[in-house]
Amino acid sequence: MTDELHHQTVAQLATLLHARKVSAFELAEHFMARMRRHADLGAFLATDDIVTLAQAKAADARLAQGDAPLLTGVPLAHKDIFVTRDFPSTAGSRMLSGYRSPFDATVVRRLAEHGAVVLGKLNCDEFAMGSGNENSAYGPVHNPWDTSRVPGGSSGGSAAAIAAGLTPAATGTDTGGSIRQPSSFCGLTGIKPTYGRVSRYGMIAFASSLDQAGPMAHSAEDCALLLSAMAGPDLDRDSTSLDRPEEDFTRDLNKTIAGLRVGVPPEFFGPGVADDVRAPIESALAELEKLGARRVPISLPRTELAIPVYYIIAPAEASSNLSRYDGVKFGHRAKDFTDLQDMYRKTRTEGFGAEVKRRIMTGTYVLSQGYYDAYYLQAQRVRRLIANDFQDAFKACDVIAAPVAPSVAWQLGEHRADPLADYLADTYTLPASLAGLPCMSLPAGFGAHAMPVGLQLIGNYLQEARLLNVAHQLQQVTDFHTRHPEGF
Ligand code: GLN
Repeated sequence: MTDELHHQTVAQLATLLHARKVSAFELAEHFMARMRRHADLGAFLATDDIVTLAQAKAADARLAQGDAPLLTGVPLAHKDIFVTRDFPSTAGSRMLSGYRSPFDATVVRRLAEHGAVVLGKLNCDEFAMGSGNENSAYGPVHNPWDTSRVPGGSSGGSAAAIAAGLTPAATGTDTGGSIRQPSSFCGLTGIKPTYGRVSRYGMIAFASSLDQAGPMAHSAEDCALLLSAMAGPDLDRDSTSLDRPEEDFTRDLNKTIAGLRVGVPPEFFGPGVADDVRAPIESALAELEKLGARRVPISLPRTELAIPVYYIIAPAEASSNLSRYDGVKFGHRAKDFTDLQDMYRKTRTEGFGAEVKRRIMTGTYVLSQGYYDAYYLQAQRVRRLIANDFQDAFKACDVIAAPVAPSVAWQLGEHRADPLADYLADTYTLPASLAGLPCMSLPAGFGAHAMPVGLQLIGNYLQEARLLNVAHQLQQVTDFHTRHPEGF
């Protein structure tokens, strides 16, 4: 059986653990051995056998006592954007090389309280800026479906690790698509909840009005289990945390979707979508119809404005958030400098990578006096209009279905000469992020080069349970989420 442990879902592993058919210790050892065997994927940035095995032993003790929480002993790994006491936290940046946080992020703490065992920290684009995980200071991540291709980004380490069976699930963060797009590129299921559902405390900040954490796993059921543990109010620590009680996001999984109105916006199906992506999305829509859902036409007329709006707002917030890395309080500090200004300049020159510098420059520019009104303020206005368009659309439909990305995963290095190519690939994930809506990606089939293609579902505020219901129903009649890349 141990051969197949890494092909099990979180739900299946939890059942095995609670039935005492496998111990948390055995599971941890199994996944740690796989991490070592597939280290060349570049998915993990930090592991610690002593920490992980100690957590596993504690989980086994809890299981032996009975009444342990459902996730007790389930191994998972965290995107290296969450701070952790037991592992270094780098955000994929040289600036935080070797940094140890004195506390755990709320997401990390909550999952630990639910008994999950941490396998380590996962590679990501530097400060979560990127769409291919090629912007990490610690090297790129390879997509297990084709190791010459990107896994998506910025949660590329999370996606590659799950797809390769190095962990059954992982945390991710999504500012403009970083849970959905890597899930799509690696054949996984991932959900970005409503902005504010999950605490941002201890999540290294990129763009605070957009950043949101969520789970990535094989199935919608797993995402529901994990999100139930992750989400909840954290009002003392995150002022944007929603004052909403905890929820059981598995509660609607088995509901019928007969009569569900699925909105299909033509703006997401324009000439930019590759044919090999369009086809699996169309078949997923047809499957939903077979399950009794109804396709309704809707319009999201300002979809094409999402890229300019996002690439003004996100860098603006990033330039402000990243001002804290000054070589004084924590992180990297340049060795030789003449005075304070020189220390700042050298520290930031050495510590930040090219993409991060590009965003700081853009962000500082759009916030500067004389340009603020023309760029930042205007972008905020259009952001509101984009959010309003969704509210109009939700008058006619219950969920929105669309592609996650215009193409399958590209080749490593393909976008190197043109950073804008990465930005353009975000076109279908940005609108829901700007509106703060819950949205997810689930496997819809395969496109060119036999690479996975994800279907995006977008719901109205706080409708995570409904999205997971639709995804779970689709996963009862399709098996794309159970496929694995060859050799893993
Ligand atoms: N690709 C987008 C960016 O580079 C989104 C990243 C994210 O969601 N963290 O900003």
